[in-house]
Amino acid sequence: MKAVVVNQESNGVEVVEHEMPTIGHGEALVKVDCCGVCHTDLHVAHGDFGEVPGRILGHEGIGIVEEIGEGVTSLKVGDRVSIAWFFEGCGHCEYCTTGRETLCRSVKNAGYSVDGGMSEYAVVTADYAVKVPDGLDSAQASSITCAGVTTYKAIKEAGAAPGQWIAVYGAGGLGNLAVQYAKKVFNAHVVAIDINNDKLELAKEVGADLIVNGKEVEDVGAYIQEKTGGCHGVVVTAVSKVAFNQAIDSVRAGGTVVAVGLPSEYMDLSIVKTVLDGIRVVGSLVGTRKDLEEAFAFGAQGLVVPVVEKVSVDEAPEVFEQMEKGTIQGRKVLDFSK
Ligand code: NAD
Ligand code: ZN
Ligand code: ZN
Repeated sequence: MKAVVVNQESNGVEVVEHEMPTIGHGEALVKVDCCGVCHTDLHVAHGDFGEVPGRILGHEGIGIVEEIGEGVTSLKVGDRVSIAWFFEGCGHCEYCTTGRETLCRSVKNAGYSVDGGMSEYAVVTADYAVKVPDGLDSAQASSITCAGVTTYKAIKEAGAAPGQWIAVYGAGGLGNLAVQYAKKVFNAHVVAIDINNDKLELAKEVGADLIVNGKEVEDVGAYIQEKTGGCHGVVVTAVSKVAFNQAIDSVRAGGTVVAVGLPSEYMDLSIVKTVLDGIRVVGSLVGTRKDLEEAFAFGAQGLVVPVVEKVSVDEAPEVFEQMEKGTIQGRKVLDFSK
């Protein structure tokens, strides 16, 4: 079967002929329909979280269950399911039992610690694969499997309420969905910040009330404070320390900055401002199975419409290059259906 794997020698990724996986107890074999390319795949390919040569990438996989292993009761053949970054938790630790399963210390992550969704066939742990509701296109569901659920969860973490201002730094694959969830699901006012005008135009099209080019405005934080009175919550998806620092300056007293992007850097955090303004800074990692179920439902209702473009699997290396250059609008989704 065809698969996209990590290969540092060929600029990070390579499309290869890979042996078929086999399933064990509690697992299901999924015939992959499509898999989105997330910036996290680029981090994995670059070895930013440790080197994983030969690993099948991908955690925005969507496919149809073709076979179930012994003991599987939660899935049946023919179900349409997701292959997500949160691939499996231990099920019994303090995080798994308190609604914070993505923080499980024994977690398995698709496309990083276990093989992911960028292959014609993939294996899932049946109880952890979330079903895709009818009426939601597979390529759009693919984008929700990581970009959607991550930003939906991050906006929850920001404590967004109707009528409040939410800032979204980075208007790429995650950012354009963050704008949509903030606007259409949480009824917030949204300001989108990027350094690329094409991405900002897209953010505007999908609902941003205000757009700001971080390279054209001199003091981004002060500008946003002036226009909004200070944001109640900020979600940072940009892969840049600069954006994290501007995010702190955009928030009002009592506000929350939610860190989502993963640049390998440190952010500057004024202790005085953090204390005197009562700012909360929190990290947010994808979402639980329940969060994904909710994020899918808003997609199926048509409230959130991911901007996706299907491309052939052989184009994967070029898509990774485009991701690195920042030239992708929304998400490119590898099409395994052909
Ligand atoms: P992307 O490349 O599609 O989007 C990143 C966007 O940030 C681009 O539009 C780029 O122009 C913009 N940007 C770059 N520098 C900026 C700056 N200084 N100010 C404002 N915008 C700037 O990537 P993506 O797929 O949306 O992923 C974004 C980040 O989120 C990656 O680091 C990825 O690994 C991470 N991520 C985290 C989680 C999580 O659970 N926390 C989940 C998925 C992805
Ligand atoms: Zn991702
Ligand atoms: Zn656990």
